[in-house]
Amino acid sequence: MERENAWKKYGEDDIRQMEILCENYKSFMTRAKTERECVRLIMEIARGSGYITLDEARAKGKKLAAGDCVMADYMGKSLALFQIGEEPFEKGMNILGAHMDSPRLDLKQNPLYEDSGLALLDTHYYGGIKKYQWVAMPLSMHGVVIRRDGSKLEVCIGEDPSDPVFVITDLLIHLASDQMDKKGRFVVEGEDLNLLVGNRPAVEEKESTDIAEAADDTAADGAAVLSQADGAAENKDNKGKKDNKGNIDKKDKDAVRDNILAILKDMYDIEEEDFVSAELEIVPAGPARDCGIDRSMVMAYGQDDRICVYTSLDAMMKAEKLKKTCACIFVDKEEIGSVGATGMHSRFFENTLAEVMELAGQYTEIGLRRALANSRMLSSDVSAGFDPNYPSVFEKKNTAFLGRGVVFNKYNGARGKSGSNDASAEYMGAVRRIMNDNNVTWQTAEIGKVDKGGGGTIAYIMGNYGMEVIDCGIAVLNMHAPFEISSKADIYEGRKCYSAFLKDA
Ligand code: MN
Ligand code: MN
Repeated sequence: MERENAWKKYGEDDIRQMEILCENYKSFMTRAKTERECVRLIMEIARGSGYITLDEARAKGKKLAAGDCVMADYMGKSLALFQIGEEPFEKGMNILGAHMDSPRLDLKQNPLYEDSGLALLDTHYYGGIKKYQWVAMPLSMHGVVIRRDGSKLEVCIGEDPSDPVFVITDLLIHLASDQMDKKGRFVVEGEDLNLLVGNRPAVEEKESTDIAEAADDTAADGAAVLSQADGAAENKDNKGKKDNKGNIDKKDKDAVRDNILAILKDMYDIEEEDFVSAELEIVPAGPARDCGIDRSMVMAYGQDDRICVYTSLDAMMKAEKLKKTCACIFVDKEEIGSVGATGMHSRFFENTLAEVMELAGQYTEIGLRRALANSRMLSSDVSAGFDPNYPSVFEKKNTAFLGRGVVFNKYNGARGKSGSNDASAEYMGAVRRIMNDNNVTWQTAEIGKVDKGGGGTIAYIMGNYGMEVIDCGIAVLNMHAPFEISSKADIYEGRKCYSAFLKDA
């Protein structure tokens, strides 16, 4: 059985709506490249649709009733949104879940060093990546730094066209004959993912109270970090004359690194030790863009899984007059096993639901358990789209194709469905009816041929409550590469799928 191609059914109105959705999606993807940036942007969007935070609702002593919308973030990295329905919580909710974290490179805690006149930052990759894909391309730095005094600095360098970018160098082909003979996993190794951040040495500024003399000396000694460094370059003859303490070698060795530290101090008021209390993520620089002569696709960093985050969010923002309470859960840490306080394994969602039920005057311990067990969920995550360049790993009857709509994975996992939440036939049947009744184009798939690999999602974790869960999502090409590809038709069908589910499940 072959599934229909969504593109073929669209009239002008569909195309117009799809374009609006995809423009908004691209703008979201350009602005939100980390889980923290996602939380911030989603909360901003949700506020525009009338959502208030749980804390605000509690402070106002607000009693939540049908139609009310509340949200709660956890540590700025996970987020839950609720729209209260007419039926009591214990009848169950309709839940959309997706993850906001994406594969990337994180700076190590002690990252900065200098080697051969270049300043570099050491990284530790996050999630599953082909390391050779991350070299020789423009990279940006996003995240937070907590300074010694506890103040927080938000960092985003490399996205504005006037910003500098960073890079991990690759070996020139002329000298790569040994490298090219290596197995793929060893072509570029994890410890070699060092981010190039500088080449310009600092030269020590001479102390003087006389301004004119200082300026002269600055030029003569080739001194001054930053603003006066141009003068230094013109005075090579006098370089090295300074430093009669016998420290020339040491200074030369660390001068580029010292200059980077001076710039960080000057521009951001951070010092080297501040890296230990930072979360700085290195991601591909540049905006999400249309892909293809026909502009039918989107190319962007982090579509796994923000493509499901954005389409779920858009459906949630447009939902109204809901019978059941609906929730969106956007989580962190899926790419490393959903662990930690902000991952799906955390009690964050359960605790937040208890708070929401309390504010709605419906909290009891048994009521909370019933609400969770009676819920239905789409665990939304990207699926592997069929790639004609690599047909050997796919079984075509059970593979997702770009343009054929939203994808349902009854199960995934590896080595005989291991680690999979295998959705029940009854639930798949119910979901299938909802999709058909709402004219959503959908397909079913597995990730590749049996025993070729596999993957996991957050589905099984919510399954632990006894609720119905199925994996659902949008197909992408080159998943986990710096830039991933999706079809605009699938984005549109994904949003329709989530709207239909919130309304009818
Ligand atoms: Mn994913
Ligand atoms: Mn992934």
